[in-house]
Amino acid sequence: MKTTAEIAEQYQQFVMPTYSQSLALVKGKGTRVWDADGKVYLDFMSGIAVQNVGHCHPAVVAAIREQAGRMMHCSNLFYNDLQPQLAALLTDISMPGKCFFCNSGAEANEALIKLARLWGSEQGKYEVVTMQDSFHGRTLATLAATGQTKYQDGFEPVPEGFAYVPFNDFEALQKVVSPRTAAVLIEAVQGEGGVVPADIEYLQAVRKFCTERSLLLLFDEVQCGMGRTGHWCGFQRAGVDADAFSLAKALGSGFPIGAIVAGRKLADVFQPGKHASTFGGNPLACAAALATIRTIEAEKLVERAAGTGEEFMAVLGEFVGKYANVKAVRGVGLMIGLVLDKPAKKLCKLLTENGLLAIPTHDNIVRFLPPLNVRDSEIEEAIEILDDCLAEWHGASKPGSEE
Ligand SMILES: *Cc1c(COP(=O)(O)O)cnc(C)c1O
Repeated sequence: MKTTAEIAEQYQQFVMPTYSQSLALVKGKGTRVWDADGKVYLDFMSGIAVQNVGHCHPAVVAAIREQAGRMMHCSNLFYNDLQPQLAALLTDISMPGKCFFCNSGAEANEALIKLARLWGSEQGKYEVVTMQDSFHGRTLATLAATGQTKYQDGFEPVPEGFAYVPFNDFEALQKVVSPRTAAVLIEAVQGEGGVVPADIEYLQAVRKFCTERSLLLLFDEVQCGMGRTGHWCGFQRAGVDADAFSLAKALGSGFPIGAIVAGRKLADVFQPGKHASTFGGNPLACAAALATIRTIEAEKLVERAAGTGEEFMAVLGEFVGKYANVKAVRGVGLMIGLVLDKPAKKLCKLLTENGLLAIPTHDNIVRFLPPLNVRDSEIEEAIEILDDCLAEWHGASKPGSEE
């Protein structure tokens, strides 16, 4: 096996520099990952909210192995036996309706946007209202939907048909809606935008408003879905219904798959020829997703995310008084942000060096997304590493010094 340095050199030669990596990870088991030099880490980012059942869960590995030996792919010009089973399970855990399958989060959101436009087309409605600091993906339409200009810089002109409002601001949303508006798209918990939960009253007000004004309410559940928030879907926290929502990240435990689930009103809007994907919902991806959902159910991981998350957040809360640069802890379930008053990158680097992986996000937030079946002992271990690193980081960052 190659060393990290050798792998990094090959990247520099042959792979476009779209990311700035430093570790090469070659193995994972549960909450732990190993790098190419043999060092082990606690993975509290789960491949960015992908490994909700932990790395290489035996049930998921077995399902993929078994299906890979039978049939990996057949075109959507044919039925396959697993796709409707997965669709049935997804509607079971969310709402009555129908699913469309694709391969990633961006593609799932793209499908939501197309669905909203097609639904609105007869009435001349096409605009989708999204939130500032949202993140919906990197395709041109989902870039346009993303309410952060930094992602759009250099890629103009971005597709038209989007309007942006501040998150958790119901008045602003009421004001921006016009006869062109077809839908509102919301992350129930903004992930990349800094781990910011939508207020429950806000979601309830938006739901009522969308129903009254005949607008679609769409949720991007790519990061906060699949049990992460202590509910199967983040929007369920507010007791509201979605007209449709997207899933990806944790759906296949790392096997690429995306989906949208649409309620009855939208279930038959896409007719033959209106949308498609070569790989979408192929048997191998569906086998991975079926095993993932069954594992989350069997291990009661939705409930565990709620309980473990609460305990983890309570302990993290103690750091707010203890360390001057730690300002707050926020989140839902096992989607947790530690809010600092300076950039989080240096602290995350220190955590990595000490064997704990977490993601710096929105400049000053450390984002924790451990597997939903993380052990209590692993949480304790992470807290110890964090405590030591925070002490070191505070000692090293003198008042007024630049990060
Ligand atoms: C990651 C993410 C996406 C994009 O998913 P990809 O699979 O990278 O295309 C979209 N929305 C949210 C909320 C995400 O976290």
